[in-house]
Amino acid sequence: MNHDLIVVGAGPAGSTTATVVAQAGYRVLVLERDPSCRSPCAGYISSTINTELPEGCIIQSKIRKIRTYFPDLSFQDFRMNGFVVERPSFDMALAMKAEESGAHIRWGSPLIDLIGGGVRFRGGEAYGKIIVGADGVFSKVASLLGKKTQRAAFCAQYHLRGIEPLPEPDTCEIFFDADYAPGGYVWVYPTGHDSAKVGLGITDAGSRSPHQYLDAFLSESSMAERFCGARTGYIPGALPIGGLRRGLCYGNVLLVGDSAGMADPITGAGINNALLAGEIAGKTIVKALENDDVTMIRQYGDRINRLLGRPLTRSIEKRKKLDRYCNSNELLQRHLPELWVTFREYWA
Ligand SMILES: Cc1cc2nc3c(=O)[nH]c(=O)nc-3n(C[C@H](O)[C@H](O)[C@H](O)COP(=O)(O)OP(=O)(O)OC[C@H]3O[C@@H](n4cnc5c(N)ncnc54)[C@H](O)[C@@H]3O)c2cc1C
Repeated sequence: MNHDLIVVGAGPAGSTTATVVAQAGYRVLVLERDPSCRSPCAGYISSTINTELPEGCIIQSKIRKIRTYFPDLSFQDFRMNGFVVERPSFDMALAMKAEESGAHIRWGSPLIDLIGGGVRFRGGEAYGKIIVGADGVFSKVASLLGKKTQRAAFCAQYHLRGIEPLPEPDTCEIFFDADYAPGGYVWVYPTGHDSAKVGLGITDAGSRSPHQYLDAFLSESSMAERFCGARTGYIPGALPIGGLRRGLCYGNVLLVGDSAGMADPITGAGINNALLAGEIAGKTIVKALENDDVTMIRQYGDRINRLLGRPLTRSIEKRKKLDRYCNSNELLQRHLPELWVTFREYWA
């Protein structure tokens, strides 16, 4: 069957794009590699979110504050509203919205190749006027287009249960420490009074795996006692930290979300940008289909660059500095305010 749009990846970016285009009455196919939604993620969404949380999404905690620790464990508090969501339920709710809007999702169907006018996936072929690569940091669509692999941060996370009661369950905690998270940070996102998702991201500056660093933080650091509990739900993962790709549009193919490098290279947050970009991609595609002019999808790149170009460029500059300081707690202690978003110095 021919489709107006084929979306590769049913994460936030892909499902949002699919919803917008299907709501306009066009034939949309979504190919998802996994048999169900299971993107590895901590699920923190700041309330700058441009859409409501989808119905069916499980909220694990409401956040009012971010506490950022320096290496010497002095800290800064910053008021910031947000949610910690159970990520698979968030993605599934978005995917269900796409289906209710008329999109057809093929689960367990990884993209294998781009072929003339369509795609080959495990189990078949499909043809479409426009193709969207929303297949995450190591995008197969981007690599089939000959694009370079993006620079990535590598992550590990446990859902800890039965830990010492959290002093403030509406507070996300962020730890900067070169010994446990070189190039990144440790996050503690509460999911209850005695449970939290505790994870970290590191860059190539580290000499151990993210899993080893996380175990070391939980067993050996001065926080070990606080986080002694059942280590459940281990997940590894990766996210792009190289910033926005130069090209977002190649002929009839668009890249959206992490596949296009839209996660923030300092914080690693990518959900809001994926939703925003999915919305813009969807609306641009609808316009192109209405006018029967595929070349109009090029407008997507201009709009994204206007909206995300500047903030992501700033984060890339900060990332370069963080790369210089990330192996020294002395340097981190001194320079953290220039490097982390909750400090005024970051925005100066
Ligand atoms: C451990 C971790 C914690 C994070 N925590 C946060 C957080 O708290 N807050 C935040 O804002 N961001 C966080 N992020 C980043 C966030 O997860 C991403 O930026 C966001 O999910 C990007 O959405 P996306 O739709 O572009 O890509 P993804 O969510 O990665 O979705 C891509 C989809 O494409 C599918 N896919 C991949 N290859 C193929 C293929 N060949 N064929 C078909 N389908 C394919 C995947 O299975 C997946 O479903 C975290 C990332 C990690 C790794």
